[in-house]
Amino acid sequence: MSNQQIYLDNAATTSLHPKALEAMMPFLTTNFGNPSAIHSIGRKVRSAVEKARRDIAKLIQASTAEIFFTSSATEANNTVLRCAVRDLEVKHIITSPIEHHCILHTAEQLQTEGLVKHHILEVDCYGKLKIESLINTFNSIKNEKSLVSVMHANNEIGTINDIAKIGAICKENNALFHSDTVQTFAHFPLNTQELDIDFLVGSAHKFHGPKGIGFLFINSDISIKPLLFGGSQERNMRAGTENVPGIIGMASAAKIAYENLEKDKDYISSLKEYLRKKLTENFKGIAFNGCESTENLYTVLNVSFPPHPKNEMLLLNLDIAGICASGGSACSSGVDVGSHVLNCLGTQNNRANIRFSFSKFNTKEEVDVLIKSLKDILQ
Ligand code: PLP
Repeated sequence: MSNQQIYLDNAATTSLHPKALEAMMPFLTTNFGNPSAIHSIGRKVRSAVEKARRDIAKLIQASTAEIFFTSSATEANNTVLRCAVRDLEVKHIITSPIEHHCILHTAEQLQTEGLVKHHILEVDCYGKLKIESLINTFNSIKNEKSLVSVMHANNEIGTINDIAKIGAICKENNALFHSDTVQTFAHFPLNTQELDIDFLVGSAHKFHGPKGIGFLFINSDISIKPLLFGGSQERNMRAGTENVPGIIGMASAAKIAYENLEKDKDYISSLKEYLRKKLTENFKGIAFNGCESTENLYTVLNVSFPPHPKNEMLLLNLDIAGICASGGSACSSGVDVGSHVLNCLGTQNNRANIRFSFSKFNTKEEVDVLIKSLKDILQ
């Protein structure tokens, strides 16, 4: 990166892949037609949008009719929760306590509106869902319809849930299953034919696609009505003129990601393990939040630094040193209220927790600069 900046916040967002930008360019310039128009310029764009849909569907072994483009994963997740309650007789929404706020706040809001009961399951000290807590909840609900929404991987600590197992348990209990797969789509294989899953989502800016575009997979067995009303876009399921450059960029970035998945996974994992090793060697009392090894995202290392007078300023000092990382905390209107994820794991508040998240564009040299900067700040 320019100005010697080191970007280690790829779970928040990623840089646009140059090839995705290249794929988008014609749709930002000459191919500007509205895909709903019947003239040739519109039809040309419609055909590109439908090809992007086929590409995304193929990557997760879905049919094209099961893919709906949205403005973001936030919109896709809101659509699932709200429409399941309105259209599928769902009376209970069951989530983990460490879901993204677009799930938790929507479930809370639906409960406030008196439409559902929101059940919050237990996770272990690594943030992994306790399966027995799901089974106990099903037993307490008995025969009323429920929607389970459990994320595939947590964006702050990287812990991965076994969504094959969770989906199977939901099926046995006649519950709908939704997984927020934002951090795993385009990072791990996802096969909707093999999973017992009703809904999953993706967000392009998490895998080197553009911002402001996502998608929702809805299993063809499920029928819901739209969240947004208006035009007949997305087969009457999501009104609003399509974000055509976004859709094209998302499909391009997703294809690139899946074509290079194993190679990129090995490379990024090696950077993460190098950082873990260097931190352990250089800093006494260092610890890591979340599960280790294969039960964790290879892109995320959430580090817990032992008590130190400089801890509060650690992120700021890293920023001054040109290193972008994240506290993973919900910071609204400038007031740091702490991370709901780390609070749930019971982390001690005299430690500094920093999430470093990698992409294939990071290097070992950048990790060395990070270690040197941390030593300068903390020693
Ligand atoms: N879910 C998870 C796990 C995320 O990490 C994010 C983004 O931070 C979202 C949902 C929201 O995605 P979007 O930015 O597309 O609204």
